[in-house]
Amino acid sequence: VPLSEKALIGKIRRMAKSPARGGAVGSPVGVSPPALRVLAGIGDDCAVLRTLAGQESLITTDFSLEGIHFRRDWHPPESVGYRCLARGLSDIAAMGGKPVAVFLSLALPRGLRQSWVERFLRSLINLAEKFAVPLAGGDTSESPNGVLADIIVVGVVPKGKAVLRSGARPGDRIFVSGELGGSAAAVLHMRGARGARSLTDGGRKRKPSEVNPRDYLRHFYPEPRIELGRKLREDALAAAMIDTSDGLSTDLAHLCEESGVGAELDAPLIPRARVGSPARQVDLDLALHGGEDYELLFTAPAGKRVPSRIGGVAITQIGVITRGRKIFLHSRPNLTHELEARGWEHFLG
Ligand SMILES: [Mg+2]
Repeated sequence: VPLSEKALIGKIRRMAKSPARGGAVGSPVGVSPPALRVLAGIGDDCAVLRTLAGQESLITTDFSLEGIHFRRDWHPPESVGYRCLARGLSDIAAMGGKPVAVFLSLALPRGLRQSWVERFLRSLINLAEKFAVPLAGGDTSESPNGVLADIIVVGVVPKGKAVLRSGARPGDRIFVSGELGGSAAAVLHMRGARGARSLTDGGRKRKPSEVNPRDYLRHFYPEPRIELGRKLREDALAAAMIDTSDGLSTDLAHLCEESGVGAELDAPLIPRARVGSPARQVDLDLALHGGEDYELLFTAPAGKRVPSRIGGVAITQIGVITRGRKIFLHSRPNLTHELEARGWEHFLG
């Protein structure tokens, strides 16, 4: 039985436990003073946020559209809700910020099961609570076609300290967190497409039902790198930063373009994800061009020592920033070619 809009808002409100007027949010106990207060949340015409002096606001908005970003026959509702918010949190991480409030606009097709909506919301709200961020408002409507969700995440960063894409300089080293290509590998397997042959799985095709989300956590439940982004900003390790949503080749091109620089990457250094069951390492092409890993790609000024792990997350140097405007890939043996930015298509359809 589908929910009426009023019932849906009531449900979201109960599930989100909207903070009472004056409730302080955004501060995991013992970590730091409240970054921001939500003075009024769900139930009023607007949310009222009070920012502190010396801080700047970060605002990011991301669509999650059925058939473009997810498929209901591939993604459990928990994954759809989780990824919806994780995308926004990852953008806040990429600025070195701290998330402080979340807004969700949701349009649902007539006839969608209540249980789907509940599982979607529960998962999204669980992730929000993990980062101590309240769901502070949003909108609901009926959708003419498919589930449409738009997430808005508000964050804060100390004044003038947001890590931009434009801060890279020639001589900076290029680093990436975690591993790349794992999310795209899941999509290829679910698609059972010819593209799956580019994985080191002998070209074996799999049906969607064979894909276990636990074998592809980076796709179904990507961990937003909030703590890592904050640490990189606090320690002034990142001169420029972006999250890998479109794929390394495309995201590095964005960073280089904004900074007016070029880059050289060392192919053997690029950390390729191990995914599937049994776990296998993805091919270089997926690590270079596969999107939606939500890792942090950043450059460190010459002379800054960057640890190989930060907060349990592996940090790998993969190249250097150069004076030219082009991006080159060095691959073995002594082979160099210009790296084409092959934007990650949302090819779920
Ligand atoms: Mg981003």
